Amino acid sequence: MIMFGTMMTYPLNISQIIEHANLIHGDKRVYTLLPNGKVHSYTYAELYNRVKQLANAMTALGICRGDRVATYAANTYQHLEFYYAVPLMGAVVHPLNIRLSPTQLSKIVNEAEDKLIFVDGQFSEQFAKLQQEIDCKHIVHFNNNSEHSLTEKTIHYEQFIAEADSEYDFEIQDENSAMALCYTSGTDGKPKGVLYTHRSMCLHTLAANQADVFGINESDVVMPVVPMFHAMGWGLPYVSMFAGADIVLHGNNNHRIVDLIAETGVTVAAGVPTVWAKLYPELQKRKREISSLHRLIVGGEPMPPTLIEGYEKELGIEVRHAWGMTEMSPTGTFCTLRKTHQKLPDTEKWNIKAMQGRPIPGVQIRIVNENSVELPWDGKTIGELQVRSPWTAGSYYKTKPSTEHFTEDGWLRTGDLATINKEGYMHIVDRVKAIIRSGGESISPTAIQRVLLTHSQVVEATVIGVPNKKWGERPIAVVVISSDTVENISEVLKQHLATEFPKFWIPDRFIIVDEIPKTGVGKIDKNAIKQLIATEFNISSKG
Ligand code: AMP
Repeated sequence: MIMFGTMMTYPLNISQIIEHANLIHGDKRVYTLLPNGKVHSYTYAELYNRVKQLANAMTALGICRGDRVATYAANTYQHLEFYYAVPLMGAVVHPLNIRLSPTQLSKIVNEAEDKLIFVDGQFSEQFAKLQQEIDCKHIVHFNNNSEHSLTEKTIHYEQFIAEADSEYDFEIQDENSAMALCYTSGTDGKPKGVLYTHRSMCLHTLAANQADVFGINESDVVMPVVPMFHAMGWGLPYVSMFAGADIVLHGNNNHRIVDLIAETGVTVAAGVPTVWAKLYPELQKRKREISSLHRLIVGGEPMPPTLIEGYEKELGIEVRHAWGMTEMSPTGTFCTLRKTHQKLPDTEKWNIKAMQGRPIPGVQIRIVNENSVELPWDGKTIGELQVRSPWTAGSYYKTKPSTEHFTEDGWLRTGDLATINKEGYMHIVDRVKAIIRSGGESISPTAIQRVLLTHSQVVEATVIGVPNKKWGERPIAVVVISSDTVENISEVLKQHLATEFPKFWIPDRFIIVDEIPKTGVGKIDKNAIKQLIATEFNISSKG
């Protein structure tokens, strides 16, 4: 017979985060870079009052429990207000990826049946195109400087909340009720909705802020450069406020990130590797001004060891390389060194840090072969990575669970190929679908990319498989090179790769471009590259 414990059955709720932040850290600040270049700043206590006003205003508009409320917005204080007000009413916040096309987004908005959309004024013009294709009852604009695209459906945010009462009794929600909806980026097909619960997000908030994970405390000043629409800004809006850290929001103005770090004393910043690769020269030039910055949280794509070395050795900034997925709220693994690694030479340390790390407490990982047999943790054997945790999706929104995405024993199939070593460090080899099959052998585009990036004249690189009559598929590299590049760079790069790889791994062609196309969340856009290759060589690449 089960013996039940005697503890309170107090449901996990997002309200606990904001109530704690207001009561214990009410004087901590949120800074936002506005489109006019000024920095807006207010306290958690002020944010808390506006959250309650917003909840009252949405209630008056007829928003009810379970309704989906979308945002089409940059990282700003108003966006942060929605992340609390919407779930606290029992409604579901649905951040839209502003970089998707109106056709992609209209499908998502129509599937989600969003009742209300909050639109950031700086995106009014691009939103106008989407607005024609969706059926949404109410639209609220904020920070709107122009009259562009304002229709009779439009309400202004500040007017919207100004009249509303700042007393609001947050009902405690069932902890398994939905609180947010995020769509996957859809790199392997149609974007799929992941519906987080109060419970999953609260548990993620607690687990993601352990010392060896985000490790954020009250003295920190946190800047999520990652857009808030990318897997809930990696959970940082909740993690940072629960910890009582100041928050700095850059309004999606990547050109002012270094200024903001210097002005507000950012200590921890988070974003994809391409952002940090681009900012590196400026950070190096202004090293003294950014001395407050002591940790980068990097994920979404592999962080090259050379870039880790640059940040750690030249700038003295610790790099924490993470792996996760929208389906995992998103944190899965984090790479910090063990005590036994401290005595290793620096290059060995950076090679460990280039791995995606160990599962954070609460996450389980395993690798399996095509027959679903579990593979050993020897650091060599490659298998499909599968995961489970209390903050991992068990199914997709409006989609029947299928064995394509979930195993019969309840694990998520990540679509990533990985090794795991005996210490539990996971290393992503590639996406299953990205592996190039040439003459019956496998070639890892990520491994080639990694070695290309160690060449002094390579600024950015990616590798793609294209169909080939003789071999099935062959690799092609797309590369951005520095201005002082020598002649015959393709030959130089081939020789560089030949020191590491067998002949058949060397890409047949090197396409030199000015910039590698990126997706809405700043990752390398392999679909756009496939099109580029198809136009350049009149061939179609791997689908
Ligand atoms: P998203 O849901 O858009 O965050 O994409 C999740 C996918 O991004 C994962 O399944 C991986 O393929 C990839 N990913 C995330 N973090 C990393 C990383 N640190 N290294 C390599 N791939 C990563």
